[in-house]
Amino acid sequence: MNRNEMTCVFTSKSQNESLARMVAAAFVAQLNPTIEELADVRTAVSEAVTNSIVHGYGDREGVIELRFLSEGDILRIQIRDYGVGIEDVELAKQPFYTSKDTLERSGMGFAVMEAFMDTLEVESTVGEGTTVAMTKRIGADDE
Ligand code: ATP
Ligand code: MG
Repeated sequence: MNRNEMTCVFTSKSQNESLARMVAAAFVAQLNPTIEELADVRTAVSEAVTNSIVHGYGDREGVIELRFLSEGDILRIQIRDYGVGIEDVELAKQPFYTSKDTLERSGMGFAVMEAFMDTLEVESTVGEGTTVAMTKRIGADDE
């Protein structure tokens, strides 16, 4: 089975959100995705990376690890930060839940990741950081 892997580590600056989207698209492009699948993965990665930057590190600067793994037509993506962590993951995943009550945040990031990917797992420890793991079958319509 065709297997490929890539890890990318970058600083939690907001300008790196677009970098993460580009890297994700470049990796997924090898799996012969539909335009829609490509857009879904870019959006899901963008939401997770934005969360690490905005919530995980806030005013601090830290590292974000982005890991891609493909096995056949299954794509696995892991986004990891070493920021503040999430106290109640189940609550955080609820649509419209946000800890930042500003106009900019609607509390839909996890809901978007869940909708656009096949699976979503969130592991977090307060004070240690957060790992988001997602999978998606790519090119599912191919014969
Ligand atoms: P939106 O994504 O719509 O801009 P949001 O970021 O608040 O709003 P979600 O992405 O669904 O909504 O995240 C929900 C909540 O989970 C956040 O408000 C935050 O409290 C917490 N959270 C998410 N990711 C992290 C993270 N990497 N580190 C710490 N807290 C996080
Ligand atoms: Mg978010």
